[in-house]
Amino acid sequence: MLSGDGLIVRVRPQSATLGLDQLAALADAAGRFGNGHIDLTRRANLQIRGVSEETLPQLHEVIARFGLLDDNPDGEAVRNVMVNPLAGIDPAEVFDVRSIGGELARLLATETSLWALPTKFGFIVDSGGVLGLAEQRGDIRLAAIADGQGAAIAIGLETRIGMEWLGSIVRGAAAAVAVEIGLAFIAVASREQRQRMRDLSDEGLASVRSAIMPRLDALREQPRDADAPLMKRTGLIELGAGRFAVGIAAPFGRVEAGQIRMLVDAMAADGVKEVRLSPWRTLYAEVSDEQSGQSILAAAASVGLVVDSADPLLQIEACPGTPGCQSTSLDTRGDARWLARLLPRFGFTETVHVSGCAKGCAKSGTSDLVLIGAECRYGLVRNGTAQDTPVRHFLFSDLAASPGEIFDTDRGSMHD
Ligand code: SF4
Repeated sequence: MLSGDGLIVRVRPQSATLGLDQLAALADAAGRFGNGHIDLTRRANLQIRGVSEETLPQLHEVIARFGLLDDNPDGEAVRNVMVNPLAGIDPAEVFDVRSIGGELARLLATETSLWALPTKFGFIVDSGGVLGLAEQRGDIRLAAIADGQGAAIAIGLETRIGMEWLGSIVRGAAAAVAVEIGLAFIAVASREQRQRMRDLSDEGLASVRSAIMPRLDALREQPRDADAPLMKRTGLIELGAGRFAVGIAAPFGRVEAGQIRMLVDAMAADGVKEVRLSPWRTLYAEVSDEQSGQSILAAAASVGLVVDSADPLLQIEACPGTPGCQSTSLDTRGDARWLARLLPRFGFTETVHVSGCAKGCAKSGTSDLVLIGAECRYGLVRNGTAQDTPVRHFLFSDLAASPGEIFDTDRGSMHD
């Protein structure tokens, strides 16, 4: 993809897992063949920025050499499978779903009939545990359930009115069932010209449902609810049974090649073998003990990464803004950092989205406070998205003079 700072190259690791050697190689390549900026995406991928037509072949060679290139770009484009970042590590998960996620990814990458799926169409394979995926949005959901005596997979569709659980299936058949639903979706979506499960008409959804229901058993146990409270996701995570992991977040999902190199060195010293990516743009690694975890977190904090779950930067999403994107003249991330410093002072604990324009690249969902760039001003929206119409605009310098105004929920000038 072409962006304001050159080409963006997406790397989609299998099972969102990178060996330390792969991560180090990508950081090195991002510095040599790009501008050193790496984005962690909401689909648990990496994007290397600032690549040129001249350096692209060399970056391509590194990605291939480290086993991170699919055989076919069409297969890679639909291999959109999200698995828990602590799958196989977390003693609290229902069971390890990586083999199901891996089989599903393999089928998507190799079955050409599935390549008609829209590229945004996604599968979630959720093992539960401390970092469950219940609140993540997808199109087809596979959730591990204890199911009385034997473990099984609950199968659900994300529809216009929310999750619809259809039934359950034995683990060994779960990936194949997900593929069958994908094919049923393709048949309906091509008729209706739709991109997501939630966009289908009632008739279309009924058609998908009837294609798969006969294959499923009745659901004897409900998977975890999306409203279940989230566990601590950043910093040292005590998993129980003597196991620990670290969660390290990148402000606005952006890491620099130098930060990754430093992190890799600290992790290698502790014997960490692999890093997992997550849809909330935090990196995870299992560590040998609490002390090792703390020393890795200290190294991450020393290079500006977020290791404290109370850090206000975690409340804010901000798109790259200028100079990375030519659609705005606003320094969205600089402005967002300034706002982050104010949040504790005004006791603002809700979510914030700073967007350079109404496209809203950083976040499609609702935020409690949204600043939307238009020319050199921001529009203000409450409880909305970047596509909503602001009722008030201001220069950021005016806001800096009286910052309390935007946190004042009683003011009638807010979007309502
Ligand atoms: S939201 Fe607008 S300004 Fe921000 S990155 Fe997307 S297109 Fe660019």
